[in-house]
Amino acid sequence: MVADLEERFAGFAARLRPAAPYRDPWPAERRLAMIAIDHIARGHLARGHLARGHLARAHTGAGHTATNHPVAPQSTPSALTRLGFSRGEEIDAATGRPYAMYVGGAWGVVLVDLSMPARVVVEVPHPNSDLRTERMGARLFRLVPGSVLLMAGAHRRAAGGAADVAHNDRSLFNALAAGAAGRRLPQVQLHGFADRSLPGLDAVISTGTTTATPAAVRVTDRLRRIGLATCQSWQDSRGRLEGIGNVQALTAERLGTVFIHLELNWRVRGDERLRSGALEAVAAADIAAG
Ligand SMILES: [Zn+2]
Repeated sequence: MVADLEERFAGFAARLRPAAPYRDPWPAERRLAMIAIDHIARGHLARGHLARGHLARAHTGAGHTATNHPVAPQSTPSALTRLGFSRGEEIDAATGRPYAMYVGGAWGVVLVDLSMPARVVVEVPHPNSDLRTERMGARLFRLVPGSVLLMAGAHRRAAGGAADVAHNDRSLFNALAAGAAGRRLPQVQLHGFADRSLPGLDAVISTGTTTATPAAVRVTDRLRRIGLATCQSWQDSRGRLEGIGNVQALTAERLGTVFIHLELNWRVRGDERLRSGALEAVAAADIAAG
């Protein structure tokens, strides 16, 4: 039996060490990553999946068996598998939805919901370092159909900090995120902060810029509605934490696409009930609507 998705992500993150090796991709490898995310963003994987289903039904209706047509879409190596990622396809027991999981060592994990074309990208740039954000990513992926989940594959302090993919525009993670932004997919990036760094605040919402977006305001409203003390960095200087210099935010700003930088304190991240409530609130804010 396949382990629970959230537990698997927790397991990936638990193994990350600052002393482990990490290197940036070469330019040709970044180009392959752009091709990969382009396929994902254009819904090629989902369409392939749905097309197979439609064909199977059509053939059954016409008296043929489903095995009469070729199952072609996944048969050629994808750009990610050419980069050394392994690929698995499973049904999530919790949601009943199929997903593809690509695992690429220090370059990370990519999870693609195959039940519909991609609508939103969920990002976990600091697994292990920002405790529980890997669980948060898996949970939000489940709550939002059409999600693509990107998780870094190295501890942010690895390779002298080069593995901090939120501040390294040469990372594979950034190539995938930038490609998604180029396809106008909204992004939500999950972080954590220590309770003592902002006493009295549970959540900080940032767009990475000095201006608000409707999606960021909706997330704030939803978090406040469940009682989390939430500040908006474009209104409140206390919120200028990690969002500064975030390369995914800069790209999204340049392209005019939605980017939400969500930071939760440890009080919320460390409590299963509070953490779930926060993620349900984010899902209810419908970031995919832009
Ligand atoms: Zn972080």
